[in-house]
Amino acid sequence: MRRISVHASTDYDVLVEHGLLRQCGSLLAGAAVTRHFVIVTDDTVDELYSKDLLHALDMAGCKAECFVFPHGEASKCSGTLLKLYDFLCESGITRSDCLIALGGGVVGDLTGFAAATFLRGIRYIQIPTTLLAQIDSSVGGKTAINIPGGKNLVGAFKQPSLVICDPDTLKTLPGHILSDGIAEAIKYGMIRDPGLFALLDAHNSDNVLPQADEIIARCVTIKRDIVAKDEFDTGERMLLNFGHTLGHAIERHSEFAYTHGQAVAAGMCMLSARTAAPAVTARLIGCVNNYGLPTDYDAPMQELTALCGHDKKRMGGELSYVVCPAIGQGEIRKASFPDFCRMMEESL
Ligand code: NAD
Ligand code: MG
Repeated sequence: MRRISVHASTDYDVLVEHGLLRQCGSLLAGAAVTRHFVIVTDDTVDELYSKDLLHALDMAGCKAECFVFPHGEASKCSGTLLKLYDFLCESGITRSDCLIALGGGVVGDLTGFAAATFLRGIRYIQIPTTLLAQIDSSVGGKTAINIPGGKNLVGAFKQPSLVICDPDTLKTLPGHILSDGIAEAIKYGMIRDPGLFALLDAHNSDNVLPQADEIIARCVTIKRDIVAKDEFDTGERMLLNFGHTLGHAIERHSEFAYTHGQAVAAGMCMLSARTAAPAVTARLIGCVNNYGLPTDYDAPMQELTALCGHDKKRMGGELSYVVCPAIGQGEIRKASFPDFCRMMEESL
């Protein structure tokens, strides 16, 4: 079993092993101070994995109830949150009990926010079941829900007590959702880890899954190191936004026809084309292509930079963005908004 220890306001481990979901009862009981859990999950994941988790908890002498909501980003909202609070009241959850987030980033973010706020804070454990959740959203303690004014606008920093990653759960993921997660894995390789990039570059959508445990461990280690230095996102954590400034603009411009992973993939390639040597961009594009992800987005650059102006990372007239002059060497740059627009809009 791979163990990555995270040091933040709360210390916790990320455990990665094939088949771990079926055997995690005693690990869960050990990380919590209770034998009473509430599992939070969506309907798709419930169907696939709740039974295994309930069985594992039962074997460890624990009791658990399941709160299940409809899958999809639309459920990461105040309506679902209020229903979850009611469910926790009915289940008699006390401050020493523990929530378990079983699912992708939607489940993880919502459960984490409920754990941060219910009874002014209770413990929660992450069991992420998408690649994106295993390498990104389950680690680092950012939790949130969406409100009509925007995505992730209401949230809290709340670290989990334990993260359990079972790469076997990825076998049931639809291909395009796996690729979305791969886009973030490529990002980690680009900012910090040439070996990870080479591993991703040597595989493709059809043969990458057997490498999942290595990929997850490397990505989590990078996120762990960055979060340890900047838990509350005031500096270095910005590195994790490579491809995201433009990516968020692409998501919005396409009216979310581009998924987050697709938009980040295109955003990385388009930014790289303007800021890195051609050989670096060519390798990035080659790798992104292996996973059927887009390397470009067809729209006038002025329309995209105008949307970058709305990006929440633009503070005091300055915009921070991340460039990778070489693979594995992400750097944070700051520019005035007009200078950023000029750089992006210059024809290649
Ligand atoms: P998701 O949770 O919506 O999962 C995608 C789909 O896959 C869902 O329909 C789900 O039911 C299904 N699914 C999950 N696991 C499955 C499995 N093993 N087999 C088959 N189907 C499965 O989406 P996501 O991409 O995991 O996460 C996106 C969310 O994560 C967004 O809300 C985003 O804001 C958030 N996020 C948070 C952070 C953070 O730091 N907290 C970081 C990145 C993203
Ligand atoms: Mg992202």
